[in-house]
Amino acid sequence: MSISAPSAVRTVANVIAGEERGAVGGDTFEKRSPATGEVISSVARSDRRDVDLAVSAAREVQWEWARTTVAERGALLRRVTQTLESEQEAVAEVVAAETGKAPKEALGETGAAIEMGYFVAGEGRRFYGRTTTSAVQNRQAMTVRQPIGVAGLITAANTPIANVAWKVFPALLCGNGAVLKASEDTPETALVFARLAADAGLPPGVLNVVQGLGEEAGQPLVEHPDVDVVSFTGSTAVGRMIARTAGERLAKVCLELGGKNPFMVCDDADLAAAASAAALSAYSNAGQRCAAGSRIIVFESVYEDFVRRLLERTRAQQVGPGDEHDFGPVINERQLQQMLAAVERAREAGASVLAGGERLSGPEHAGGYYVAPTLVEDAGLDSEISCAELFGPIATLHRVRSFDEAVAAANATPYGLTAAVWTASVHRAQEFVARIVSGVASVNGPTYGSEPHMPFGGERASGTGWREAGTEALDVYSDIKTVYVNHDPGRT
Ligand code: NAD
Repeated sequence: MSISAPSAVRTVANVIAGEERGAVGGDTFEKRSPATGEVISSVARSDRRDVDLAVSAAREVQWEWARTTVAERGALLRRVTQTLESEQEAVAEVVAAETGKAPKEALGETGAAIEMGYFVAGEGRRFYGRTTTSAVQNRQAMTVRQPIGVAGLITAANTPIANVAWKVFPALLCGNGAVLKASEDTPETALVFARLAADAGLPPGVLNVVQGLGEEAGQPLVEHPDVDVVSFTGSTAVGRMIARTAGERLAKVCLELGGKNPFMVCDDADLAAAASAAALSAYSNAGQRCAAGSRIIVFESVYEDFVRRLLERTRAQQVGPGDEHDFGPVINERQLQQMLAAVERAREAGASVLAGGERLSGPEHAGGYYVAPTLVEDAGLDSEISCAELFGPIATLHRVRSFDEAVAAANATPYGLTAAVWTASVHRAQEFVARIVSGVASVNGPTYGSEPHMPFGGERASGTGWREAGTEALDVYSDIKTVYVNHDPGRT
């Protein structure tokens, strides 16, 4: 396959049973470059009819796919990964064009998708169940993993190729057919992934891609009676709707949702290193990380010193779409407007905006969706801006007097995804790990940065307890079957 460089307006289709096709209804929508605001693609605007076709296509081949050995599926997914690797630069170009992020960052993210592919492919040679003892003579007891059926995969746009890889690789390894509802903000990334998978030999129908908007194409996928497991990455608000809808028909649902992740700085922290990690946690990828550190909690005795350092770093951030920049635009105009409105409401409620709080509109930002790195002080711990996920380069600062107060402040949001503590004390670090309500805890590091072999997911409003990545991802996409083999039934 050749992936041509992003140029004029491109057509982005669905992939159903190995065929690229427009939406049944013939409708399309425009996808704009976050870096310039220009239309870069015309995308199939699918609805229930397209979802029906995609689910049927997946259903038709799923059994045959599931009958291959897991090792065979792993080997094929390794070839898919190798193909992705050989096209890494071209894929990264598509990611950069659709997200506005710097080419170097897009390349790194594509590398993360490749690492996930290799990790999951290797699971094809493990895929462990349990063997154990039985209380009955001549009986063996064990568990094996079973495919679930058709997986409906719905993704967000923030790290699009990695988001696709995190779901598609484990779903397919486990022997499911898949229908991927790509994010409407990064449709071509999903299309390119499906093309590469087909080039590597993935049979038609095993992975189908439906483009379109959430309510029109995502919702019918969640409602579809033939979709056995729904795996969703996106906002908590949409996750709630999905849980309700899937709950009606008792479909298995994995939800990877938002976060308002605390970054705690104790009085014994290395303040220079902490300020650097805080800036990365808050601003990198334009703050569009579920694991962004957007609630910065600092001991009073080091507050002024830490804030001075962080402000310096905040003011030094270079914003733009190039490799020389620290971060790029946010994904679309709507999200940009929501972020700025939240900062404005905080200002009206008495918070101080120490830096940023506005759209960047210099000549190099013309037409794009650039938000200045924003630091907000004196917003109450329970205020909207301190508790709601904004998914932009915006963080709030909070003073605390003690470790206990800091932990309480860190836990006082509806979320529980990731958290970081900065301290030189092993005891404080261990206390933090024990008491913080989060799926991921980081000591003397940023709030983000997951590895493919380690589970990732959240508690409370950040998820439903499932984990993506790691071997734990296999639990999402497989059912456990308990098997008893009586090997001499006449003689018990
Ligand atoms: P979003 O919830 O608006 O959209 C996510 C996906 O859901 C898109 O593909 C969208 O089309 C689809 N969708 C929207 N409405 C739907 C509906 N009614 N039924 C079915 N599908 C629907 O989120 P977003 O703004 O694109 O992404 C940002 C969010 O994703 C943030 O909250 C972020 O924290 C979260 N996120 C979480 C993780 C994680 O692993 N926990 C990772 C990345 C992003």
